[in-house]
Parts: sequence; structure tokens; C-alpha cells
Amino acid sequence: MLANGFAPGGQLTTTTDVENYPGFPDGIMGQELMDKFRAQSERFGTEIITETITKVDLHSKPIRLWREGSEEEAEPTDTTDALIIATGASARRLYLPGEDIYWQNGISACAVCDGAVPIFKNKPLVVMGGGDSAAEEAVYLTKFASKVYVLVRRDKLRASKIMADRLTKHPKIEVLWNTAAIEALGDGSLLRALKIKNTVTGEERKLDVNGLFYAIGIQDRSIKLILGHDPATQLFKGQIDLDSEGYIITKAGTSYTSVESVFAAGDVQDKRYRQAITSAGSGCAAALDAERWISEHIEAAEEAAQA
Ligand SMILES: Cc1cc2nc3c(=O)[nH]c(=O)nc-3n(C[C@H](O)[C@H](O)[C@H](O)COP(=O)(O)OP(=O)(O)OC[C@H]3O[C@@H](n4cnc5c(N)ncnc54)[C@H](O)[C@@H]3O)c2cc1C
Repeated sequence: MLANGFAPGGQLTTTTDVENYPGFPDGIMGQELMDKFRAQSERFGTEIITETITKVDLHSKPIRLWREGSEEEAEPTDTTDALIIATGASARRLYLPGEDIYWQNGISACAVCDGAVPIFKNKPLVVMGGGDSAAEEAVYLTKFASKVYVLVRRDKLRASKIMADRLTKHPKIEVLWNTAAIEALGDGSLLRALKIKNTVTGEERKLDVNGLFYAIGIQDRSIKLILGHDPATQLFKGQIDLDSEGYIITKAGTSYTSVESVFAAGDVQDKRYRQAITSAGSGCAAALDAERWISEHIEAAEEAAQA
């Protein structure tokens, strides 16, 4: 396992079918897709070093990196002229009783990623959350589900008026106000129901559903456990510009960060799309940006020195 508890290959190694990556009309397993990524990059001579980096100095020239276990050493284990940060993000979880068993077996943090998976087709599903992302995810899931329940802990939505209207007027969506999930129930392999609780009366009951989607944004302070995604940027704090949620800020339309010769790609700088294809696309952009930077700064300087 690398940092963030992911196997090399990242988040997709934790999932089964990836249905929306281009080029695989029948879908592909997440681990298999990542093995293909690795094999393809190695074919072009990429040397892959599977290590966790625990300390960085982004402002030295060259940039200095320390691998896990060597943080106390004065000398870094690695140096580089240009760096692409692609440390990703991870979904926060509620850790309901039963969630460990049914995580990715009925419980998901990404409707766009998992909504089309056969276990959800024509089945009742639940979205938890009351903001715009919950509304968006619920409406999206109506394409696949027989019905979508939205659990809202309070008696009103935080979503914008237009999204709230779309949600409450949708014939396939039922909002359960003042309601929280308290336990995930199933048959040991797939989620089959949720135990839910009325947050005002305390009444508990079982809701038969086959899917639970977390869509609780970081801004939802009504819930103590704040969900959403955590970008893996702890390591870079104080050395590079991050937004209020900890994502690396890139210059619009590029992979350039606030630090010269440091580029960012993938989920670590993208809180909107967070898909494999968008991450791969931004990785390509970062590689081109870094290559151009090296050729304009390092190679040009070397040529000048030789001349
Ligand atoms: C369960 C699940 C299902 C998904 N399904 C789909 C899907 O069907 N379709 C889709 O398009 N997208 C899906 N996604 C989203 C997709 O996985 C991500 O958008 C994509 O993996 C982001 O790629 P990334 O390279 O930016 O980051 P990640 O995949 O998060 O990879 C980052 C890597 O960096 C490593 N790392 C972090 N910090 C360090 C460090 N300090 N040193 C060394 N290594 C480090 C991590 O360990 C990890 O291996 C899914 C995500 C999840 C969690």
C-alpha cells in the first residue's frame, strides 16, 4: 500500500467494473485497467518506483524528495528538475455499522462512477445529503434506479433553488426529511436495506434499498462527520497554493501551480469531475507542460553553457 491506503494504481484498484473509460465498450475491472496503464507506460521506458514520499522541498532547485523512512536524513532520496503532483484524493466515509462490509458492494461515494453498475439497475437507491451535489446525484441516479430516496437530516435543503426544484418535483425521487441512516444491512455480500432514524422523533425503521450514495459536501456543517473527498495534499501544505478544501490550485486550462516547475494533475487538483478519464487527460497535459518547462529552462541552459 502507498500513501492514503491505496495500492499502486490508485483509487481504481479499489473498484470492480469501470464502465465509462473509453476504449472498453464492455467495461473493464479497475485493477486490470491500472495494470494496462502501467504496462503501457513501461513500454515507453518509464521507470516506476513504488514508494511513498513523506517529505518534500518544492522550493529548492532541484526539488528535493524524501521517501518514507528517510525523513530525518539531511540529504533527500530523490531530486528532480520538474515535478508532477498526482497524489489523488480519497472519499471520506461515515463508518456506519455495516459500512465496511458493503462499501463498494452497494455503498458508493460516486454516483457518476457507479450508478450504471448492474446491482443498481431498476432498484431503489438512497442518496444522503441536502446540497447541490446530493440533488445532482439523485437526479442522475433516476436514469438507472426504480426510485431514489434522498435522506436529509434537517427539514430543508441547502441546494440552490433550481436544484431543489428539480429534486422535489422529480417523479422518481422522494425526499425523506429529518432522516439519517444509522446502519447498513445486507446479506453479507450486497447491501439490501438501511436502518434509518427520524432525527426529530428518534423513530427507527428499515428502508429496503440496494444502493447508498454519499453526497454530503464539505460545506455541510449540519453533519458532524463531514464527508466529501480529501485531496492528498498534507505533504505540500505551506509550500504550494491550495484552495480552502485543500486542493492544489492550477492555472485555468493548464497544470501550472503556484510553484515554478511543479505541476499538478488528476483528482488532487480537481474537485468537480474526479473521473479516470479526466485525470488521465490532465496527466497528459501536465506531462506536456513539464516537458516544455524542462526544454525551455534546463535544456536551454545546458546548451547555453556548452556554447
Ligand atoms: C471506488 C471508486 C470507484 C471509482 N469508479 C470510477 C469509474 O467507474 N470511472 C471513473 O472514471 N472514475 C472512477 N473513480 C474515480 C477515479 O478512480 C479517480 O478519478 C482517479 O483514480 C484519479 O486518479 P489520480 O491519478 O488523480 O489519483 P488516485 O487514483 O487517487 O491515485 C493517486 C496515487 O498516489 C498515491 N499517493 C498519494 N500520496 C502519495 C505520496 N505521498 N507518495 C507516493 N504516492 C502517493 C496514492 O497512494 C495513489 O496510488 C472511482 C473512484 C473510487 C474510489
